[in-house]
Amino acid sequence: MLLTPTDPHSQPTERCLVAVESVLGGLTSTEAERRLAQHGPNRLPKAHSRGPVRRFVAQFHNVLIYVLIAAAVVTGALQHWVDTGVILAVVLANAVIGFIQEGKAEAAMAAIRGMLAPRAAVLRDGARLSVDGADLVPGDIVLLEAGDKVPADLRVLEARGLAAQEAILTGESVPVEKTVDPVAPDAALGDRRSMLWSGTLITQGTARGLVVATGAATEIGRIGGLLAGVEQLKTPLVAQMDHFARWLSLLILLFAGLLLAYGYYVRHYEFSELFIAVVGVAVAAIPEGLPAVMTIALAIGVQAMARRNAIIRRLPAIEAIGSVSVICTDKTGTLTRNEMVVAAAETPEGVFEISGEGYAPEGEITPAGSLEDLARAAALCNDAELRLRDGHWTVEGDPMEGALLAFAGKVMKDPRTGARRLDAIPFDARHRYMAVLTEGPEGRVTSVKGAPERVLRMCRDIDLKHWHDRAEALARRGLRVLALAETTEASGKIDANSLEGQLVFLGLVGLIDPPRPEAIAAVAECRAAGIRVKMITGDHAGTAAAIAAQVGLANPGRVLTGAELDKLDDAQLALEVASVDVFARTSPEHKLRLVTALQANGLSVAMTGDGVNDAPALKRADAGIAMGLKGSEAAKEAADLVLADDNFASIAAAVREGRTVYDNLKKVISWTLPTNAGESMVVILALLAGFALPITAIQILWINLITGITLGIALAFEPTETGTMARPPRRRDASILSGELVWHVALVALLFLAAVFGIFTYAIDRGYPLELAQTMAMNTLVVLEIFHLFFIRNIHGTSLTWAAARGTKIVWAVVVAITAAQFAVTYFIPAQAILGTRAVPLWDGILIVGVGVAFFAVIEIEKQIRLGLSQ
Ligand code: ATP
Repeated sequence: MLLTPTDPHSQPTERCLVAVESVLGGLTSTEAERRLAQHGPNRLPKAHSRGPVRRFVAQFHNVLIYVLIAAAVVTGALQHWVDTGVILAVVLANAVIGFIQEGKAEAAMAAIRGMLAPRAAVLRDGARLSVDGADLVPGDIVLLEAGDKVPADLRVLEARGLAAQEAILTGESVPVEKTVDPVAPDAALGDRRSMLWSGTLITQGTARGLVVATGAATEIGRIGGLLAGVEQLKTPLVAQMDHFARWLSLLILLFAGLLLAYGYYVRHYEFSELFIAVVGVAVAAIPEGLPAVMTIALAIGVQAMARRNAIIRRLPAIEAIGSVSVICTDKTGTLTRNEMVVAAAETPEGVFEISGEGYAPEGEITPAGSLEDLARAAALCNDAELRLRDGHWTVEGDPMEGALLAFAGKVMKDPRTGARRLDAIPFDARHRYMAVLTEGPEGRVTSVKGAPERVLRMCRDIDLKHWHDRAEALARRGLRVLALAETTEASGKIDANSLEGQLVFLGLVGLIDPPRPEAIAAVAECRAAGIRVKMITGDHAGTAAAIAAQVGLANPGRVLTGAELDKLDDAQLALEVASVDVFARTSPEHKLRLVTALQANGLSVAMTGDGVNDAPALKRADAGIAMGLKGSEAAKEAADLVLADDNFASIAAAVREGRTVYDNLKKVISWTLPTNAGESMVVILALLAGFALPITAIQILWINLITGITLGIALAFEPTETGTMARPPRRRDASILSGELVWHVALVALLFLAAVFGIFTYAIDRGYPLELAQTMAMNTLVVLEIFHLFFIRNIHGTSLTWAAARGTKIVWAVVVAITAAQFAVTYFIPAQAILGTRAVPLWDGILIVGVGVAFFAVIEIEKQIRLGLSQ
């Protein structure tokens, strides 16, 4: 009796459709399991990603590595084996570290992608169920609505106003209408109107479909298209730094060439010594590790956001979300809980209060009255189902409809008994009502529910003004208001036009949807962070204003409705959006206009959305945010960010993480560039002036090997600085390579020079051997780098707090590791032989740390003066 899968190309016969009628309950779960074992999961074969060997080899494709390999060859030819060995060690270490970092970053992104696995609504064991898209099997009956992504190849069994966008298969972006009617057996793919193809998007209507092919057997699986290519681990900032690093490297190489010529022809240094020193300069100056460390910082940010329920779909969004200056948010489910309860009803007979909690169909109605007609309409014009699980009532489907079912259950037992659905007009945010035609014991009835303004207009013989006022009064209490109506004059199909003016008004219901407490806190946090929060809702103006006041928007009193918005031209709208925070009765098209108007005011906009029609606004926004729970696949695909819990608080958390990531990227850059400049200047100055090198070339290579990547990496893990959400948003167009950064590079490089030459001169003056003086200078450089790291950790506040000193585990881990390494090369005799070092006396060691403290004091005081001036 169970339907077996048909070939996706064959056309179903009438008999087949009859068979389908008889199995409308879908597969049994045991049969589904059996078929899953037989056909395998409904997943496309994995995109071919680069294997580890190719990824490792790719690490050598880098200017610095080329320079180092050339240097290794030259030093080898000169038979300076120690130098060659150290250089090759640096090459290998760079490649290994790059390889591990990149692997981690890619794994982080892949894990995040897995969190966005689509789900599908199917009929199993006679009931509607939401399952993982991968668990679909041929023979399953899938329920689809506008905004859904088709999860497998389906034969359409039932279609209402159905259209799908099949661009990924056919290249055609205009949606194609779909029907149940068979088409010619030889019809081309794009003409098979009775099929829905996996991976395409439903743009309108609703459908039931029979799965005929899953996984690799689907059309999209056959052409092997769409496969999620490896997402580039790049943001505008990383790309900018990548570009910058490449040019800087070339410039450094050019300079190194000139230095070599100058040293050889003018200063007459011995070539092999000079050559290795110049290589040291180049290696010290090239910020080779920068893009890699920045990528790590991004990957860590992506993971931190995911932990806070904000899933990044496109990496650049991580920068965008940190810079937003206005957040436009939906109301239902984002600012509110979307756990609805019908609290009030009003019919021509009177006003009723309804008690009870959650979705349990148990509660009191006061005063007692006859609400049967209202309750039946609420239950029939409804796609949701209530389930009792472990003593707890849950809703499958839209929470508002669940609440209506619970309400109906409080009024009467089994309000849907005997009713069979013949036709329906699904809810659409544009027309704001839903109609269902059913046949029951008392004949045919069309039940309608929707926004009061819309439904009241369709009713006959009513006092419009009175009922508008009543709806308004309910809305002012913060209740979401619906009007219900019906007509018994019905044929076998619903004709939307014939409903106008024909309905009998049944009553109003008011639903409570309380604000989320954490959303109230998050709105306050955003306001403190200089971010304006605006509510854009399809709900009634009164309800919107009441909820806006409850969550604490800046200006909840003034509401602009969609209709008023339509009357404004773009320039007027741009003026209005500056002060209005609540937009009610809007349709998705308005969102696009609002984003554009806000952007015209120079604001950086985050916009939330869930429906298929929200996609253009999400794409246009600087950060498009889709709802993970109630959002459509279409919205998710258009978004940069998906909220796993639909909660506004997660947006605020994402902003905080976004700001943290940006700060950390800035910290990585602000640490690396001055460090590189300082290191290389030490050697350059000595070469130009003809001094003895205060640090040998091999020692410079060593310092680069151990500090270059390790210390920088620690900054990628920095937690959010206190006060991050008390600062106004940064300007989107502000370049990270700012005047302030140039000043910092210059200051730190100069202080490095002064300290290193100071210690070196001090040692020489005391009559220490050159090797010891060089060892002291090298250790000074490392100490300075560590102090610089502690300084950079707090670019917006003081570093002189207990929290700042305590640092993170990773900071201390690298500091301990590097200190141990420095002790080893300073005191361990075989290491001394390789690096030409000598044991440093205790008091001189203390002096070196003292120099670090003095350096720290100078830059910290400079920062405090700068921060003080800018306030
Ligand atoms: P948002 O999520 O944007 O804050 P919303 O969920 O209130 O807003 P819509 O879903 O566009 O916005 O709903 C707009 C109006 O349409 C609602 O206020 C309600 O009156 C009506 N409505 C919503 N859902 C249904 C439905 N399933 N059936 C009938 N009417 C509905």
